[in-house]
Amino acid sequence: MSRLTLKSAKAEALEQLQTLWPCIETTFRDMAHKQLAWRGDVHVDRTGAEARLLNAVFVAEEDREVDEDGEVSYYGMTDGDMIWIERDLHYEQMIGTLIHEALHDCVFLVRPTRAVVRRGLSCEFEHSVMERLPVLGI
Ligand SMILES: [Zn+2]
Repeated sequence: MSRLTLKSAKAEALEQLQTLWPCIETTFRDMAHKQLAWRGDVHVDRTGAEARLLNAVFVAEEDREVDEDGEVSYYGMTDGDMIWIERDLHYEQMIGTLIHEALHDCVFLVRPTRAVVRRGLSCEFEHSVMERLPVLGI
């Protein structure tokens, strides 16, 4: 896939993310309250999710991880600021992966009385929320 393709996948993923945002935010909030029994505030970081998505780059050839069959081990990864995405994805997979990675590190439990005000959540929790969203392939 070319950089041009990544650019249009980003635009499409961003549009889907923005359209779905009210649902994304409600689902994260509900799940934090139900699954984690959290009673406080939940911060869902839309600005960070959008910035991450727009910062996505292809994973460098030397950083690709493949299994014994030569299949890539993951489609994408994020460190909370950047997204690295596999080059050899179908266009729809690319869009789904961008949304998936953008939704990592975007939900925080707000604890105003503690030294660390916002606590991030596990990727298992984030995945359980993503499974409930009406988006295919994320
Ligand atoms: Zn994930």
